[in-house]
Amino acid sequence: MSSPDNRPVVLRGGTVLTMDDAHTVLPRADVLVVDGKVAAVGTDLDVPAGTEEVDATGGVVMPGMIDTHRHMWQTAMRGYGADWTLTQYFVWYYLEHGKTFRPEDVHAGNLLSAWEGLEAGVTTTVDWSHGLQTVDHAEAAADALLAVPGRFVLAYGNIQAGPWEWTADPAVQGFLRRRADEGKLGLQLAFDVTGDPSFPEKAAFEVARELGLPVTTHAGVWGATSDASIQLMHDAGFMTPETVYVHAASLDTDSYHRIAATGGSVSVSTESEQSAGQGYPPTWQVRKHGIPVSLSMDTSVWWSADLFSAMRTTLGADRSREHLEAHVEGNTVTQVHLRAEHVVDWATRGGAKALGRDDLGSLEVGKTADVVLIKNDASPVSFPLLNPYGHVAFQAQRGDVHTVLVGGRVVKREGELVGYDGAAVRSAVESTVEHLRGAMGDSTWQAGMNPAMPEDGDDVLDNPYTYTEFKSDETREARGSLFGS
Ligand SMILES: [Zn+2]
Repeated sequence: MSSPDNRPVVLRGGTVLTMDDAHTVLPRADVLVVDGKVAAVGTDLDVPAGTEEVDATGGVVMPGMIDTHRHMWQTAMRGYGADWTLTQYFVWYYLEHGKTFRPEDVHAGNLLSAWEGLEAGVTTTVDWSHGLQTVDHAEAAADALLAVPGRFVLAYGNIQAGPWEWTADPAVQGFLRRRADEGKLGLQLAFDVTGDPSFPEKAAFEVARELGLPVTTHAGVWGATSDASIQLMHDAGFMTPETVYVHAASLDTDSYHRIAATGGSVSVSTESEQSAGQGYPPTWQVRKHGIPVSLSMDTSVWWSADLFSAMRTTLGADRSREHLEAHVEGNTVTQVHLRAEHVVDWATRGGAKALGRDDLGSLEVGKTADVVLIKNDASPVSFPLLNPYGHVAFQAQRGDVHTVLVGGRVVKREGELVGYDGAAVRSAVESTVEHLRGAMGDSTWQAGMNPAMPEDGDDVLDNPYTYTEFKSDETREARGSLFGS
């Protein structure tokens, strides 16, 4: 029997993107959820007595989205690093201020991030939790995730120590074994391979293997991890199908071959790669190698937990590169390779595949019922609904997420999160901000948020075609030659 908060639910009359193997789209169809599973998909379904009815007409019903790489603890600093480069991010968190975070600060960030994801229709998130400098921090991270009715994978990491150090800690291993036995959270190990030829990270991979945990790693990050990292992992036999390569944005063809041949997947964070400098968002390359792709949003210190944005920017970046590569050859692209349907697949099935969760990522009978309804009747953007994949990727946005189910439980209804104590979350996050600002002092806090402009930042380049203002002798000379005087 279903508990009161887990009674059957039917979403009636929406355009259903099943995301099954054939990517079947059903216009005006129902999705029935019973006991946490998809019980039926079809038209005019009979439903058990007491089923909650959701009017999905005019909307799109799709599987819950999956973010495979997100530093949730950093959400307590939402937007702080909007103008950072990756170097500034590294300096701030890794070298200078990451240690300032207490367990309650990790808890606050995770709590906010977890609700934020659900609100946007992201039903599963990998918490790439690399601020776990003590096991108390890890307990706080896990407790926050378990306090929110979403699906989470805790990817355990610690940027304050070498991966060979913290993975060897019996307390860390004990935590991981205990949380694995509880079975409430997915678990991974999260660490990077610097390319040091002595390969000190080998010991961490061995711990992962011993504990039976997948590894997620920032790979192909300009200035940080490289082809040498991939080669070390490959030579030692640590590239496996469950390995997730985050970014993979500055790798050569040989590395992509190694990832493809060993069955791993790439987590692309397009907004991050475009802005922080890991390398060009790599889908235009990895799709040629048949490497599975999932999407991610990385961190709210720059961006938000919004996979609509991930889909949109990934389509744009892929197509942009395809056009530019053609232009270099003097050619014109007349048909693009990457379609809206592909990025919707990556945001759903792609994530499920990366996490080895065959029960997620599609709406088929027997699958776990993580379901999203996109519907906003008050919005002029909600119609006409002609191309449902195009609608999801380019027209819809997080505010259009009407209903969200996780494991059959309604966690967002009629546009409102269920059970979200916003005042408590806000208060926890405000305490964290106050703590951080107090610990580093106001001028350091302000300087961190407002990085200095580059030396030449104020220069306006001389332009010989300018009529009204001439800034240099060269420009005057150029004007002279232009007008023959
Ligand atoms: Zn990251």
